[in-house]
Amino acid sequence: IISRHNYSPAILILDGFYEVTPSEELILKSLIEHTETTLILMTYDDNFTSITNSFDDFIKNNFSIETGSVDPETALPLPLSEKRLSYVSYPGIDEEVEGIARHIKNLFISGRCRSLDKIIVAFPKLHVYHDIVQRVFKRYGIPCTFSISKPLGKTEPYLALTAILESITDDYPRLPFSRFLTSPHFKKMPALFREWIPQISLYSGIIKGKNSWLGLSKTLSDVKSPALRDILPEVEKEFKWIFKKLKPLESLKDRGTFKQTSEALHKLLSELDFSDAEDIDIGEQAADILKELSLIDNLILADTGNKGGLREFIDSLRYILNASEKEAEGEGVQVSGFFELRGAEPEYLYLGGLKDGDLPSMPEIDLLLPDNVKTKLGLVNMKRYLHLQQFIFQWLIDSSKNLHLSYPAMEADRLFLPSPFLPWKAETTEKTPGILCREEELLSHPEIPLSSHIKEIGIKSRLIKKQFGENSKIRVTDIDSYRTCHRKFFIEKILKLEPSETKEYEIEAMLLGTIIHEIMEELMAKSRSYRDFDEMKADAEKLLAKLLAEKPLENYWKNFIRDSFLSILPEIYELESELRAEGYSFMKAEVLVEGEVIKNIKLKGKIDRVDIKIQNSSRTSRDKIKSSENNEVEIIDYKTGAAQLSRTEIVNKGASLQLFLYAALMKSLGFKVNRAGIYSVKDTKITWVPGKKDSLTMDDYIETCLKYLEKTVSDLRKGDFTALPLNEQTCRNCHERAYCPYIQAPSN
Ligand code: SF4
Repeated sequence: IISRHNYSPAILILDGFYEVTPSEELILKSLIEHTETTLILMTYDDNFTSITNSFDDFIKNNFSIETGSVDPETALPLPLSEKRLSYVSYPGIDEEVEGIARHIKNLFISGRCRSLDKIIVAFPKLHVYHDIVQRVFKRYGIPCTFSISKPLGKTEPYLALTAILESITDDYPRLPFSRFLTSPHFKKMPALFREWIPQISLYSGIIKGKNSWLGLSKTLSDVKSPALRDILPEVEKEFKWIFKKLKPLESLKDRGTFKQTSEALHKLLSELDFSDAEDIDIGEQAADILKELSLIDNLILADTGNKGGLREFIDSLRYILNASEKEAEGEGVQVSGFFELRGAEPEYLYLGGLKDGDLPSMPEIDLLLPDNVKTKLGLVNMKRYLHLQQFIFQWLIDSSKNLHLSYPAMEADRLFLPSPFLPWKAETTEKTPGILCREEELLSHPEIPLSSHIKEIGIKSRLIKKQFGENSKIRVTDIDSYRTCHRKFFIEKILKLEPSETKEYEIEAMLLGTIIHEIMEELMAKSRSYRDFDEMKADAEKLLAKLLAEKPLENYWKNFIRDSFLSILPEIYELESELRAEGYSFMKAEVLVEGEVIKNIKLKGKIDRVDIKIQNSSRTSRDKIKSSENNEVEIIDYKTGAAQLSRTEIVNKGASLQLFLYAALMKSLGFKVNRAGIYSVKDTKITWVPGKKDSLTMDDYIETCLKYLEKTVSDLRKGDFTALPLNEQTCRNCHERAYCPYIQAPSN
């Protein structure tokens, strides 16, 4: 090209060359031959001759040259010794980037540098700093461009585009499908989705499945937010609309050719108006990519009949998107990696992340060519790689006019040392004056620690009279709940506040508990009439089928519950036989009880199960609770988890009062409660209090619990909602932790 165009400049200046490749040598040779005078600038440093020699030899061997040297005294910028090189140590990466941003902003505001494009910020490990720089520079309003361009496949619009295909292939999984529905790059997508899908995603617990998305009203029938409940029919309508649009692509899921899929996707993108505010050509670009993809069919041998469907299409699309790059265009400060600065002579250079291990960094382990083989072949071996980094570092230091070196001293609990390239004992601290962004302005006001806002809850006692006053019936379960932690009780039971959490794919403990209760209730009601286990099993199967059919559960869970329950049925039968052998017989389940166990304290509750003691084989009415001659009973509470009933905890701490308060209520109705037990369905085991060798009687337990009850209700009525857990473990999983004075401001 050079000879064809007769390119012959009068003067050619070559600067910054070293280790040129053979093809570069050819170009340089041709250029120099066509030039009248060529000025070549080269680094002469005895320490780096192994790097600069090859270029030196190339020049000397090919041209007649006149050498001269520049006196280091007159060289600009100043040599290293006069620069009094120093570096800043920051406490961590965030602080380091913040320090650099503040320095740059200060430089700009003070007027010392008004052209941000003269500034380069570089890090040996740019990927570690990339996102932090983006975030912090944005905060300080500093425009910046990253030298490394992003593959198209990693840009937001194309991530949303691939999410469509992934959703269809994998039967609409929650995350990719939500990404597609809420993406701002589909302008014709119903706005309702962008507003509500995040909440629906959180609460629905949908893992995937078109039917799950279409049956949201059923899945979210018990959702607390009325606004969400009201909007569901409309959301469902829009889901029908979008699934109709996706139908053509869906039909190609398993057997579509590249051409068919490209066309269907192209049509969908136009219908949804695929666009990007920052790139007006994105529609055309996507169309071109799809056109290219449709050509792949021609490469597939016709007789193989390969119709890979969507999965293969996604792989090819991803391949193309990751191979095409979005050019990093922009203005402002340039942010780059260390190796990209080879030969650069920036006016302002901020070289950060200079910690031991990152500069110099070790080359990646090459499993094909070990280091000794590379040495023999004259390739870049480890020694040369380290040396090259030192050369680039030296070059940058010598050639940049204004230099700012730094490293982070720590990350989490790991301490770092500065890079060995940095001069010994040259660490300085930095103080950039001024308030340089909005956040700093906000923080500059007298600092009030968060903990000082955290207070105990103060409630006027009259406000809770209605719910817990002398004329109201307090739920027995509320007593235990209040005792667990007064503050937690106020937040969860009085204010009814719930943290928003992503619903897991599991059955809610409440629903599972209800199902087990119902099964046990019906099964036990008939337990006396079963002649053997087989009869009980046959009845259990019928019952399960009837009960589960009415529940809003997926078939997977219904089968899971049925199988699990039937697998423990033999143990349940054993347990029931034991109870019968001890002389007890099922009397009633879900027994509503209420009464005034202490003057001015009325309680109400529902006992899971009451068994009556049979004396002399006498039969008792199972359907009525009333005092009779035969009034000895046992009460049982079902738990789906493990049974937790510790006698010492009850007596010493007043934990788990529930069963004894039920016993007190039964007593007030004229029954004699012999024992109370927790029936763990998980372990198929009943824990009784009083136990067989217990020194305390049921009346002793009732008496102790009533004392706790009196104090508890008195505190509750006074409006005492102090943060104080009955057991420390409660705090571990408490959502209030972050705002709780017991945890955050214990000194208060
Ligand atoms: S963190 Fe502990 S003390 Fe605080 S509200 Fe929760 S359970 Fe109570």
